[in-house]
Amino acid sequence: MKKAAQHGAAFFKKLGRFAGEDVSKGNPPENQVAANASPAPDRAIPTIDRHVDAFIAENQTFDAARLERRRATLNASECVSCARRVRAGKDAVPPDPHYVENQRCAFRGQMIEAGLFAPAMRGAYGRRFRYGGARQHNFSNGRLAATPDGLLLGCQRHEFAHLGVDLGRDNAVVITECKSVDDRTRDLPKNTHVVQVQIQLGLVRETSRYKPDVGIIIYLSASFLKVTEIPIRFDPAVFAAAERRARLIMGAASMADLPAEGRLAGGGECQYCPYVATCGACGETRIRDLHSDGPMEPRRVASGN
Ligand code: SF4
Repeated sequence: MKKAAQHGAAFFKKLGRFAGEDVSKGNPPENQVAANASPAPDRAIPTIDRHVDAFIAENQTFDAARLERRRATLNASECVSCARRVRAGKDAVPPDPHYVENQRCAFRGQMIEAGLFAPAMRGAYGRRFRYGGARQHNFSNGRLAATPDGLLLGCQRHEFAHLGVDLGRDNAVVITECKSVDDRTRDLPKNTHVVQVQIQLGLVRETSRYKPDVGIIIYLSASFLKVTEIPIRFDPAVFAAAERRARLIMGAASMADLPAEGRLAGGGECQYCPYVATCGACGETRIRDLHSDGPMEPRRVASGN
């Protein structure tokens, strides 16, 4: 538990360092706060808004090498997104001129995962919790790839009986996947998260010595940090379908050879797509509509965080 607390403390200390302030030394003197809080009347009202984006840009856990790896395979979190859109990302197609990437929701997930989920899991399960936090591992078979938020080793057969799960044997391995959600979200689990965990289970079984039958999606609500745990049992048919989808998307010559699934499904996903102009499925009028309110606020469909 002590180690878990240290990990959490290190994470939040990092937040303080970014602001040029050592949080371990306490709050700044009151006069400093007062001076900073009272801008000259003729100056623009200060806002930390752009600094939030700067902080996110500097602290994104998606480094260049990881992004390059993600381009070579269909990632578990992308499987149910529009095939044409996913392929455009793989080919590094330039986004539409007015498109603005909003990383805040994804970053919220990363903060909750690194600052709360991983330390709490270590506190609860000690060294049985592996491949979590900074030690996450990417499992790939060359077509599909997945990075679970942790593996729980040495599970007893009835350890998760309170979730209605019989693991079938002692010393079993369970995958854990953390998701942050709006407190008002109903109908959990989300289909995209279920598919993601199915692919994680399939890849871990195929590419490692671990043979998990069950994954647990651990939802943490963004406002009250309410925990909801939902078990998912491995279904080989879902994994096989994901394999076929990976071959379809990665085997196409380009995005133009793939169906415009976002449009075919009613266009909901197109509202957050960076490639509306290149895709062309929505037509010129639709592109103008989408861009008429200024920069789009995309969400990461099936985000890994
Ligand atoms: S605009 Fe719609 S159909 Fe076209 S790639 Fe984007 S999500 Fe898919």
